[in-house]
Amino acid sequence: MVIFSNLRVWDIEKREFVHQDLDFQKDESAINFSNTEIDASELIALPPLVDIHVHFREPGYEHKENILSGAKAALSSGIFTVLDMPNTNPITDSVNTILQKKELAEKQHYVKLLVASALTERNYNELDEINVHADAYKVFMSESFGNLSVSYETIENSLAKLESIESSKPIFFHAEDPKILENSKSYSSHNKRRPPEAEAIAIQQVLSWALDFPKLKFHITHISSGLSLRILELSKHENVTLDTCPRYIYFDQTSELEDKLKQVNPPLRNRIDSDLLLKSLATGLIDMVCSDHSPHTLEEKLEKSISGMPGVQELVPSTLSLINKGEIEWDRAIEALYTFPSSLLNLPKIELNQNMIILNMSDPIEITKNWVKSKAKWSPFEKQLFVGQMFYAVKEGKIVFENENYIN
Ligand SMILES: [Zn+2]
Repeated sequence: MVIFSNLRVWDIEKREFVHQDLDFQKDESAINFSNTEIDASELIALPPLVDIHVHFREPGYEHKENILSGAKAALSSGIFTVLDMPNTNPITDSVNTILQKKELAEKQHYVKLLVASALTERNYNELDEINVHADAYKVFMSESFGNLSVSYETIENSLAKLESIESSKPIFFHAEDPKILENSKSYSSHNKRRPPEAEAIAIQQVLSWALDFPKLKFHITHISSGLSLRILELSKHENVTLDTCPRYIYFDQTSELEDKLKQVNPPLRNRIDSDLLLKSLATGLIDMVCSDHSPHTLEEKLEKSISGMPGVQELVPSTLSLINKGEIEWDRAIEALYTFPSSLLNLPKIELNQNMIILNMSDPIEITKNWVKSKAKWSPFEKQLFVGQMFYAVKEGKIVFENENYIN
């Protein structure tokens, strides 16, 4: 038995910390497991967190990441559930490919991996069966890594079909307008090829679909620009939720990070955009945060012009650090990393006093290549100092992670 005395535990109903003494079972297989009472007065307990947007790259791109390496990175920072995106190889857009990915995910027990299906031209007829197995949908309105963009006509047909079968699965939109991207192709810089207008116009389109299909759950992911926020301030409908990623808050085009490493879709914007994103996260206009963990190896990033960066392990510490800086409140951080993602993904209710992460908010975490558990082995956040070091993870009453050690 491990006893945590005087632990501050986040109470979801009260929206504040309450002091508690808790004890959890010791797993016999654990090495160096301390069978003692722990003075937990410096520690806090939070619900197990959720990352609604990751690319664990399996099947097809396992040299960048696989489900096991991604899952270990996620759990080590307090994430118990992730939603994996469909631009793997093969593309996840059929019952078979969804089941294939779920089977791969079953081989590890670090995280619960949910599977998003792409909406594509070829799966329209199969949607009623896909809806049984998919946990969410992803719509690429324009091309990005994996090239899954579909026509607006296909999107509208699919939405009509999903509404007719009363789907409760969230539909994620990568919102960048294909026409504006096409017209901006000749620019030499990545940022100019994907301007903020492309995101804003695409978001207006999603909002109009949300009005046309009021029973579906629309989710606009990785919002990057202040222009988009201006539109959303005026017309975020009830069936629309939003997220952004720490990378858009911490970095802008001018950040000290090699240009090729900075490349993501949508691109990093200006400082004013980052500030507006942070404010909107603080006020709740932006409901949630996610990592959009999209790893490539350092060699691939430096040799090719390729979009994406790792971030699943950085999501929790980078977000919690905003609390210590006085930028967001605890309540908003818990909503953004747990409450709203859980409800978006229709996660079953869990016993929170049997499932939690225990961390401290004072010891600094220095982000280094060594710290990174992703196969990418680099982080855009290198040299940053964060807080939120996780010491224990408790699943179903058992400690499954202690001080950097995963416990079988
Ligand atoms: Zn993504």
